[in-house]
Amino acid sequence: PNRNRAETVLVIGLGRFGTAVASSLIRMGHEVLGVDEDLSRVQETADRLTHVLQADCTSPEALRQIGIADFKTAVIAIGGDIEASILTALAVIEAGVQTIWAKATNERHGKILKSIGVQNVIYPEARMGQMVAHILTGKMMDFVELDNDFAMVKTRTPGELVGLTLEQAQVRQRHGVTIVGVKRPNEIFTYAQATTTLAEGDLLIILGEVERVERFAAQT
Ligand code: ADP
Repeated sequence: PNRNRAETVLVIGLGRFGTAVASSLIRMGHEVLGVDEDLSRVQETADRLTHVLQADCTSPEALRQIGIADFKTAVIAIGGDIEASILTALAVIEAGVQTIWAKATNERHGKILKSIGVQNVIYPEARMGQMVAHILTGKMMDFVELDNDFAMVKTRTPGELVGLTLEQAQVRQRHGVTIVGVKRPNEIFTYAQATTTLAEGDLLIILGEVERVERFAAQT
C-alpha cells in the first residue's frame, strides 16, 4: 500500500514501552512503522502492528533504507541499551525528523538525549513510580503530573467540605486547588459548578501544584 509516511509514526524499539505506544497509536487510527533490531521482537509484534521491520537504528544507512526522510514523528523506545538509544537519537536527529520522543531510563540518560536535541524526553518508570507512591497511601486514586510540579488527582471529598456547595467551600482560595469534576457513587463524573453540593463518598478530580493537591488529599 502506498502509505503517506508523513502521517506514519516511526516507533524504534519494540520492547514493552514501544509496543504499548505503537498499539495505542494504531487504536487511535494512526499508521505506525515499528522497527527493532531483534528479529524475534519484529515477528512477535507483526500481527498487532501494521508495519514492522528489522533494522539496527543506530546506523544512519539503515535509517535511510527504511525511508527516515519521510517521517515527521519518531518515538525512540530503547531503554536498556543507553548507548543504542543515544546513537539512534543522533541518527534520527541528523536525518531531519522534526518531532522526536525518546524514553530515558534515568535522569542522566535523559539529560544527554535533551542535550543532543531530543525535544520530548519521557521517564516512564519514574513517572509510574511517582504515581504508585501517591496512590498507595490510599488518599488518591489517580495521580498525573501534568507539568513540572502541577498535577491532576482523583481523590475523596474531605469531611469538612461535605454538605457545602463549591461556592461555599472556596477550595481554590483556601486550599489552592481547583475542583474540576465531581462523581457521586454509581454515577459518572460531571463538571464541577459553583452550585454543586459535595456529599460524603463523592470522588473529586482536582488540579493544582503537587504539594497543594497532596495536602488537600491528606485531609480525606
Ligand atoms: P522496555 O523496557 O520498554 O521493554 P527495552 O529497552 O527492554 O524496553 O527494549 C528496547 C527494544 O529496543 C528491544 O526490543 C531491543 O531489541 C530494541 N533495540 C535496542 N537497540 C536497538 C537498535 N539499535 N535498533 C533497533 N532496535 C533496538
